[in-house]
Amino acid sequence: MSVQIKSVGVIGAGQMGGGIAHVCAMAGYDVHVHDVSPDSLQTMQANISGNLARQVSSGKATDAERDAALSRIHLATEMSDLAGMDMVIEAATEDETVKRKIYQQLCPILNPEAILATNTSSLSITRLAAATDRAERFIGIHFMNPVPVMKLVELVRGIATEEETFKTSRDFIDSLDKTITVAEDFPAFIVNRILLPMINEAIYTLYEGVGSVEAIDTAMKLGANHPMGPLQLADFIGLDTCLSIMQVLYDGLADSKYRPCPLLVKYVEAGWLGRKSGRGFYDYRGETPVPTR
Ligand code: NAD
Repeated sequence: MSVQIKSVGVIGAGQMGGGIAHVCAMAGYDVHVHDVSPDSLQTMQANISGNLARQVSSGKATDAERDAALSRIHLATEMSDLAGMDMVIEAATEDETVKRKIYQQLCPILNPEAILATNTSSLSITRLAAATDRAERFIGIHFMNPVPVMKLVELVRGIATEEETFKTSRDFIDSLDKTITVAEDFPAFIVNRILLPMINEAIYTLYEGVGSVEAIDTAMKLGANHPMGPLQLADFIGLDTCLSIMQVLYDGLADSKYRPCPLLVKYVEAGWLGRKSGRGFYDYRGETPVPTR
């Protein structure tokens, strides 16, 4: 069964869902975004407007393109508003139970030929697919954060993903002007399999008192030429997401080298989730970020 993608549903209006909606709307797709939290939908809309305004002022988009993109983004307080979409990209919280519940609610209202994609950073595509009614038309489309800026998308087939689904998804990502790498369905795929253990090690380095937040980030920026320090990057990703990914690596690969740092667990327990909650390894509530350790 093949489908031509014209409309895209996005579930989850957080940092990733907002970025996905942004790039899809700029590429001409009709986009409907659903979130359980009306506040998230409002914040997302404001963020997209701000990001598009920046693209206009830096000459990357025209006023007309910005207006057209904004007019293509529709906020959906009910999941049923996504019923007629050709493709739905789920970008909700990195929690398998949350994602399974979404699929249970979504699948009965979707067209049988619609493709269902997940933006999961780490979870098994095959296992998530098995929780849907369309394992052949289920695929991992893993965008990077921030979506409008980052070129890469990891494309991950589950064991049952059909070639047609893969090809349609590949053409869809090409139309967003992104570059694809194909990853096999192993915990955290390629980017996060490599990146998250480095971030987790930076948190252990802090936990063991080898260096302060500032020392660790400066060391990796100036000593390894990373554009962002690992703790700054962890805050940017979201510490809850970092912890979920480490847990998936630890459980999925059964190797103690992936043990999430207890300090990461503590920050998440405190609700210090990084930028999105105002505090993580840095405090973002003032003019400039201040290290919290
Ligand atoms: P986030 O916390 O910014 O946003 C998650 C959103 O999901 C929230 O707005 C929340 O209200 C919503 N949500 C939760 N339960 C829901 C439900 N039942 N129905 C609808 N909406 C629901 O998280 P994020 O950083 O945008 O991450 C979303 C997904 O993208 C995760 O799977 C994550 O692993 C993946 N991802 C994250 C990054 C990153 O750098 N943060 C990068 C690539 C992929």
